[in-house]
Amino acid sequence: MTIGILGGGRLGYMLALGGYPLGFHFRFLDPSPQAPVGRIAPRVTAEYSDFDALDRFAHGLALVTYEFENVPVEAARRLSRHVPVFPPPEALEAAQDRMNEKTLFRKLDIPTTEFAPVNSAAELERAISRLGLPCVLKTRRLGYDGKGQWVLRSEADVAELRREFPSAPLILENFVCFTRELSILAVRGRAGETAFYPLVENHHRGGILRLSLAPAPRRPEALQLEAENAARRILEALDYVGVLAVELFDCGGRLLANEIAPRVHNSGHWSIEGAVTSQFENHLRAVAGLPLGQTRTLGHSAMINLIGEVPESRELLALPGAHLHLYGKSLRPGRKVGHVTLQADSVGELRSLLRQLPPFFEREEFCLPLDASGTSN
Ligand code: AMP
Repeated sequence: MTIGILGGGRLGYMLALGGYPLGFHFRFLDPSPQAPVGRIAPRVTAEYSDFDALDRFAHGLALVTYEFENVPVEAARRLSRHVPVFPPPEALEAAQDRMNEKTLFRKLDIPTTEFAPVNSAAELERAISRLGLPCVLKTRRLGYDGKGQWVLRSEADVAELRREFPSAPLILENFVCFTRELSILAVRGRAGETAFYPLVENHHRGGILRLSLAPAPRRPEALQLEAENAARRILEALDYVGVLAVELFDCGGRLLANEIAPRVHNSGHWSIEGAVTSQFENHLRAVAGLPLGQTRTLGHSAMINLIGEVPESRELLALPGAHLHLYGKSLRPGRKVGHVTLQADSVGELRSLLRQLPPFFEREEFCLPLDASGTSN
């Protein structure tokens, strides 16, 4: 079976690596001739808006999926004339626009922050008088890793923004004073069966995910169930097939949904070594109509993103339980070029591994979240 994947970045790369043992073949489409998957699979270089190229791409494929959520919905719809496309294009539509996303949460009774659409400076004034300060203004589309966002704490911040008012459609949200950031990865098969990974705790630096702890420390059963229920409602409402990530704010035990990603997700990379079935394999099982794999964890994992630079392999791999994933991209500041997963049988062992990371890593930063959690088993 040959699976077509739109987007040829690191997520596509790991999807293919997860799918080869199952006997799948892959063909990628990406506008960039440098897309990393070129190392391991046939890659078509074409724009997503090139319908002739899409039609040719679909030829001989069993189905199409994506690793990139900003694939134009029209491209997914065009491909669905030829082959099944999973997740459904409606999921892309919901996830690409923050207004659609938050409206969906509201419709499904999933708690989220207060929000309002903003298209002009006058509308911003009205929205602020309703929501109050502090708040966060975001572009509705194409924002990632904290880009296209302005935190407004004071009237001075608002005045400054007004001087260079962004021209894109915007959304204003209440600033959430969360205690931590969590995510849940969920998967739904073609027959509607579902499975959920444990909640993961995520730490960012400069707007980019830096560290994920899986399972999240301090994870009462009720919190896990609340997250699973929210994810299940989204999966069902969208008639979803594949892996879906839901990013959540934990406000002292109360969860607020922030956004969804209709694809495998950075906060699920730990699952390659840390779960019975990785998110990548489970996504492929789901879209191919195979039984879903178990999502149970194998001990405790910490996933550290390598951003712009990579450590010396020998020193890192000397650490027991350390796994290195390099995506074959050229090194550039701010770019996710690989990740490291530390896998341990207990939280105590994981903490000890984090402390022994080579000096390349800022050990203190990575040890802190586990030390603060007070979890010792
Ligand atoms: P997003 O692109 O929505 O995932 O936002 C990027 C990061 O900005 C999140 O991971 C949070 O750390 C922060 N953030 C986003 N929205 C809010 C909000 N409404 N209140 C406080 N922080 C936020």
